[in-house]
Amino acid sequence: MTVVPGMTELTAPYWEAAREGRLAIQECRSCGQLSHPPLPACPRCHGLDPGWREVSGTGTVYTYTVVNTGDVTLHDVTLTDDRLGAVSCAAASLAPGAATTCRAVHITTAADVCAGSILNIAAAGGRTPVGALVTGRAEAIVWAVPLPPVPVTG
Ligand SMILES: [Zn+2]
Repeated sequence: MTVVPGMTELTAPYWEAAREGRLAIQECRSCGQLSHPPLPACPRCHGLDPGWREVSGTGTVYTYTVVNTGDVTLHDVTLTDDRLGAVSCAAASLAPGAATTCRAVHITTAADVCAGSILNIAAAGGRTPVGALVTGRAEAIVWAVPLPPVPVTG
């Protein structure tokens, strides 16, 4: 059985680049935010003018899980990473005990490799039914692992 991924107007540039052996990631023309999978609106500046950037293929996919550990439903759930900005989450409301997944992509830069690691601080927030803001925070370190050198012969 062959499973063919769904191609939509939103994802077509990704698949067209892949067909040519290139990796293209959606990039907001207003603020430079990278989004994968592609989104109709920028999660950082809410811009509606996405472009595409060809990238090296080296990077880090960040996945966050936001859990409502309280006893009331939270609305307007958001997540912000100090280095990546606003991160899109699958759900904007969380019942008590419920969780949602949020994802972001960071394309590795030379500065990341020189630094050896990246410390990320993620802050999640949501509002209770009476509008009170509740927040939570977590940190993670991503280690840069340089690829081994490619032998050159000839
Ligand atoms: Zn933007």
